[in-house]
Amino acid sequence: MTTQRWSLVQYDADADADGARGSKLGILADGKVTRPPEQLDGLRLMDLLDRWDDLAPLLRDLDVSALEVVPDARLVAPLTYPRKILCAGANYYSHASEMGMQRPDPEGEPFFFLKPPTTTVVGPHADVTLPGGPSDVDWEAELAVVIGRGGRKIAEDEALSHVAGYAVANDLSARGLFSRNDAVFPAFGWDWLRHKGLDGFCPLGPGVVPTWLVADPQNLTLRLSVNGETKQDSSTADMVVTVPRLIAQASRVVTLEPGDVILTGTPAGVGMPRRTFLRAGDVVVTEIEGIGRLENRMVET
Ligand code: ZN
Repeated sequence: MTTQRWSLVQYDADADADGARGSKLGILADGKVTRPPEQLDGLRLMDLLDRWDDLAPLLRDLDVSALEVVPDARLVAPLTYPRKILCAGANYYSHASEMGMQRPDPEGEPFFFLKPPTTTVVGPHADVTLPGGPSDVDWEAELAVVIGRGGRKIAEDEALSHVAGYAVANDLSARGLFSRNDAVFPAFGWDWLRHKGLDGFCPLGPGVVPTWLVADPQNLTLRLSVNGETKQDSSTADMVVTVPRLIAQASRVVTLEPGDVILTGTPAGVGMPRRTFLRAGDVVVTEIEGIGRLENRMVET
């Protein structure tokens, strides 16, 4: 590898010379959090994304080895908060197959659902509180695409120029709350909010790796383990609708804005087909080659 990989993170630290409160923008390289270049001081990642086209050039030639390390930095959610989180449903051939669905049509339209940004997004080391009851919480390792330049009706061949960077996400899913027979109308038989949108159901991070450090988003290895046991081990090459087409299609439905996040679907290996679900005390490690690693413990209500 010729280019050093690094990512844009947000962190909390006990002692800060300037006494400022709240999470700060940092740069994670080689496992260490450093302060960003001076021109970005005082910004959060969302501020940076709002001015992405102006500020990204500052970061392109960044020498991360010259940056000052922050001792005792604790990583928090990198983006507080995405403006919206659009999630592609069943977007890997292997996952569609394990869920008993027919082979997806790559020319077909992707299906999107939403996660509530401010209450689902948690950091790379955050605990996730399980909802209790027969909720059957499952894991889904996913590549998260972070939008830097907004747009509507974005052309597929220009879509990647709208991406600021990539992160790792776990699209936690309460399988047991998906189907409903108690709704006010039979048409409301599938409850996407309860299924995908519970508090803490979008561990994200550890940081956002700028797009120019990711040679090909369709050639990344994703892995997920529960208590050290590998559950998912696949590649983004297995996606049905590619990242550029997801962006293009999403932007035909809604206006994409800086700080929007698109979750791109998950490969085979979720718990549902074997009816194995998460329990309090389980530690879920979600990892994408070159992008980073999340480690989240499930805790009791
Ligand atoms: Zn998903």
